[in-house]
Amino acid sequence: MKLKKYIAPAFLSLALSFAACSKDDDEAVTDPDDTDSELPEENEEPKMLDLEEYSSGQKVMMQTFYWDVEPRHEWWTNLSDKVEGWADAGIDRLWLPVATKGQSGGYSMGYDPSDYFDFGEYDQHGTIPTRFGTREELEDLIAASHDLGLEVIADIVLNHNSGGGLEYNSYRDKETYTNFDEEHGNASGMFNRSYEHFHPNDTHESDEGDLFFSEQDLCHHQQYVQDWFWKDENSVAKYYKNEMGFDGWRFDYVKGFGEWVIRDWMDEVGGFAVGENYDGNANVLIDWVEETGIRAFDFAAFYRMEEAFDRHKDLTILEDEMLRQTYPEQAVTFTANHDTEKDENEDNRIAPENKMKAYAYILTHDGYPTIFYSDYENEEFQQEIQQLITIHNSLATGEVDILHVDNDEYIMKRNGNSENPGLILYISTGNNTKRRNVQTNWNNVELLDYSGNTTHIPTSDENGTANLEAPANGYSIWSVSE
Ligand code: ZN
Ligand code: ZN
Repeated sequence: MKLKKYIAPAFLSLALSFAACSKDDDEAVTDPDDTDSELPEENEEPKMLDLEEYSSGQKVMMQTFYWDVEPRHEWWTNLSDKVEGWADAGIDRLWLPVATKGQSGGYSMGYDPSDYFDFGEYDQHGTIPTRFGTREELEDLIAASHDLGLEVIADIVLNHNSGGGLEYNSYRDKETYTNFDEEHGNASGMFNRSYEHFHPNDTHESDEGDLFFSEQDLCHHQQYVQDWFWKDENSVAKYYKNEMGFDGWRFDYVKGFGEWVIRDWMDEVGGFAVGENYDGNANVLIDWVEETGIRAFDFAAFYRMEEAFDRHKDLTILEDEMLRQTYPEQAVTFTANHDTEKDENEDNRIAPENKMKAYAYILTHDGYPTIFYSDYENEEFQQEIQQLITIHNSLATGEVDILHVDNDEYIMKRNGNSENPGLILYISTGNNTKRRNVQTNWNNVELLDYSGNTTHIPTSDENGTANLEAPANGYSIWSVSE
């Protein structure tokens, strides 16, 4: 990304920008440099830093699918075409959809797992390939990703199964779909299962978690289930890691079982790991990451953003509790996923008109950000997301300080370090351009908006005070000039 190109056109529109600046906003502060800066000398233009020379020490994950991806059976090859561009954009990890055969066969998104070892190679549930393609196409995708230095994360459904044959279940005194063998939804013949491995059983009625999908809710206390999931050499965990080349795990529906399941799995295979604990309460997430030792998707941050930008239009909500405030290293932040984007309840998703403010938030704050496939591949969003990733990977480092919050303004500083100037994010949901004096870490230097959303060029004073600007209903991201 060539940021310096931004400077020249920025000056052309400088006068326009000042004209648009709100005069009736009583919080706006007059910029004393206004008159001086209208006719700048060509050689006096401040230049942006070359962001490729800076590193925040962290990159960004891509969620590589949405609900019911199309076209079916061609998803792995579609992703293979995309990975080079994603790597160039600053992505370092891919979260793939569930890679093995589910009960819905060629229509399955994988959350109805039947055969944990059928990656699109056995003829069952009406298809050889999964919805996403064949095993060979998946292996090609993983190899291509590794060649680019991208980690590949497997989506793992440990809670429940689907698509077995009927058998008599003595614990329920009726027939249940709990027989998984070569003829019944488990053509691989690996990890055959019967009613003894589900709940209730000889050990107990249920696991520690919710009973979801109750008749096919797997019992992780059964030695046989543990052996096949993570202990044996050809267990799911070790086969996915050693045979398929997966680098880590996204654990589905972790409310359905005890935290010890995750700990035991991680003791065997390690790797990057994040859990889907679908809960907007930060304290639930905090307890869970403490118990498991792995990361969690920050549903608290997601819902606070939804409330702040969409539901209540009140940016003070961004100060409420999130996982990332307590455990930034354990928080995987996101603005959308395959579930939220298909949910018809407006309160469960961030509206398109607010999506970029949410991306600006997660890509400047701490936490490990996730980009949602459909957002990145949306032509209206792509360039802006790319620029935000570039800013994230270079300047988004150091302590988080909130400098100012009110209903329609939010200003946050990343403090950087001795080699990195950090940044300041300024979000506004107001109808007019906003300006505000804030305390920066930068003395006597011209500041630039690296988002390209404003053309204002303030100069900080000897104490670091600077008059920053945010566009109407948008954001700016400030740092020093060269
Ligand atoms: Zn159990
Ligand atoms: Zn909403």
